[in-house]
Amino acid sequence: ADKKVKEWKYAVCGYCSTGCSLEVGVNEQGRPVATRGVDDGKVNTGKLCIKGIFEHELSESSGRGVQPLMRDRIFDDYKPVEWDEALDKTAAEFKRIQDKYGRDSVAIVSTGQLMTEEFYTLGKLVRGCIGTNNYDGNTTLCMASAVSGYKRSFGSDGPPGCYDDFEHTDCLMAFGSNLPEQHPIIYWRLKEAMEKRDFPLIVVDPRVTMFAQFADIHLPITPGTDLVLLNAIAHVILKEGLQDQDYIDAHCNDFEQMKDVVDKYDPTTAAKICGIDEDMIRHVARIYGRANSAMSIWTMGINQSTHGSDGVCAINNLNLITGNIGKPGGTSLSITGQCNAMGTREWSACSGLPGYRMLEKEKDRKEVAEFWNVDADFFPPKVGLKETDIFPAIESGQIKALWIVATNPMTSMPNLPRIRKTLENLEFMVVQDGYRDAETTEYAHVYLPGAVWGEKDGVLTNTERRVNLANKFVEPPGNSKPDLWIFNELAKRWDVSQQMKFPAAASDVFDEMKQLSKGDGRTLHIAGMSHKLIEQQRGIQWPMKEGEETGTQRLYSDGHFQTPNGKANLMALDYIENNEVPCEQFPFWMNSGRVVEHFHTRTKTGKLGNLNKYSPTPYMEINPDAAEQLGIRSMDYVRLVSRRGDAVVMAQLTHRVPRNMVFIPFHFHDCVNHLSLGLLDPHSRQPAFKQFSVKIEKV
Ligand code: SF4
Repeated sequence: ADKKVKEWKYAVCGYCSTGCSLEVGVNEQGRPVATRGVDDGKVNTGKLCIKGIFEHELSESSGRGVQPLMRDRIFDDYKPVEWDEALDKTAAEFKRIQDKYGRDSVAIVSTGQLMTEEFYTLGKLVRGCIGTNNYDGNTTLCMASAVSGYKRSFGSDGPPGCYDDFEHTDCLMAFGSNLPEQHPIIYWRLKEAMEKRDFPLIVVDPRVTMFAQFADIHLPITPGTDLVLLNAIAHVILKEGLQDQDYIDAHCNDFEQMKDVVDKYDPTTAAKICGIDEDMIRHVARIYGRANSAMSIWTMGINQSTHGSDGVCAINNLNLITGNIGKPGGTSLSITGQCNAMGTREWSACSGLPGYRMLEKEKDRKEVAEFWNVDADFFPPKVGLKETDIFPAIESGQIKALWIVATNPMTSMPNLPRIRKTLENLEFMVVQDGYRDAETTEYAHVYLPGAVWGEKDGVLTNTERRVNLANKFVEPPGNSKPDLWIFNELAKRWDVSQQMKFPAAASDVFDEMKQLSKGDGRTLHIAGMSHKLIEQQRGIQWPMKEGEETGTQRLYSDGHFQTPNGKANLMALDYIENNEVPCEQFPFWMNSGRVVEHFHTRTKTGKLGNLNKYSPTPYMEINPDAAEQLGIRSMDYVRLVSRRGDAVVMAQLTHRVPRNMVFIPFHFHDCVNHLSLGLLDPHSRQPAFKQFSVKIEKV
């Protein structure tokens, strides 16, 4: 009432993947002035975290782009231009470079920030018009290992579980997830479930995170050794006969091969590698193995690793051998990062084709080509470069032009000193972003100002496959435009687009996606949904086929998986130590993560006073004993140095980290990624952001 709200507009939060339902209050003048949670009875029951509460402030945040910009050379001054000039230039440069160097001399890196309808349209433009193989999302930095692990174990991406599993599980084990800070509303829901039914919470994390402090058991493993721990837990379960052999026999491939490898990881051997007590491994295995239902959740501690994909498969192994997939309270649930990381996985065609179709499958290529009215031979028959391989390809001269959409690699990529030099090698770069001041824009020739959350319509998919609607409640500032409009206008500059359809309204794009989601034998059905129904039901979980009244809570409840024989794959996974471990010269493990006030590279949250004042500066957590040895006091500034670069941060003394580890939040520019190495997982190509070594110098 104080803020004179005239109308409340329904939306889903545009920050993390929890997918909280909210309403934005708009006043008489059409200005967003307040945000409140919606008690949807599904995700957040009216609650919001600190980011959600201040989300309406986004529309007036500083640093927005309001006009397209162009320049001939990077580091010259940008000139404001009209949209036609900027779009003509972008299309002409891409065509010139493809004519001269070949179709795959260009690359596109997208994001988990767009609306799903925008992803779909971008995918159509990239695959159907530009025709390059090198199209990926920034999800390679956060979720690629989960995607890869799900595909290897179950034959398809798609988290099988849901939040409702908290209300049914008898044991929850979390790997590398600091839920209370990263996904506070999910944590709240878990906490309420635990208060009703006292089930054990086990947190595996090298650091004593907030989540670890709330746990019944905390396993502070040596960084990067989660695969060993998981194999050892499986070892104990199998040795003590705690597995669900009926489920394994009926629904799993390759049990004997997995068992042979797991056999080597007895608790005594594993304890030495993981740095935890062997009896604790046995204890945890017995709790998990004996629970009627048990679930595992994980976030970046598993994914951002040189064996992230194997770690995900090992979690899936654990749940398969105990029969904990597709049943209430029994699941492998990857807690996603960005608000629409799931949407890009599902529909963007990055690293594949829409609806989890695969470039490698001729049937899938033909199906999509026919639907889009393009030649199937135009689609590349295999996956192209991932984001982490695109930058080395620029360095080697293979990629000459780059289009960055709503992501900020100049802060988010590992080893920034190298990335900075790499970008200077490009003949042409275009950045499309809501924020003119995102660091990556400094390296572009053309800047296209996009609209952000609240300034356009579309759906987002959350961690539990819930598709929810984010309505427009305010106009984009100046001459900035919704990304869907930008993609459609660019498509017009390729002749082939004349024979394709590029609908202008998000709801029409959604209807097109619905048609493409039909077909037997596939999981990703949305044909039963519509924008209207999604808003009425406050989000719907896919699959939802035509004629069904609501969505589906769990996948694989019938024990049928997306593999050729319908059985899940148990994976034989050996551990190889391959990180940059601490040594005499660089004696500390470097660990990184999120804080609750900020989202990713702070392009949004760094502008919002109420968030920024709680977390304004980069800091380092250091153990007081280690600090004393180095003569470092609380709030001293120190220089962290790695083999790649250095960063100055403030010291915070805390027993959250062991003596040989420091931790810093990853959000800040020229900070952790000036130091990080970014060794890649061989399956997912995701970087190991959390396992490398540094030394500390006083400044
Ligand atoms: Fe938004 Fe995530 Fe906070 Fe919910 S928990 S309000 S989705 S940032």
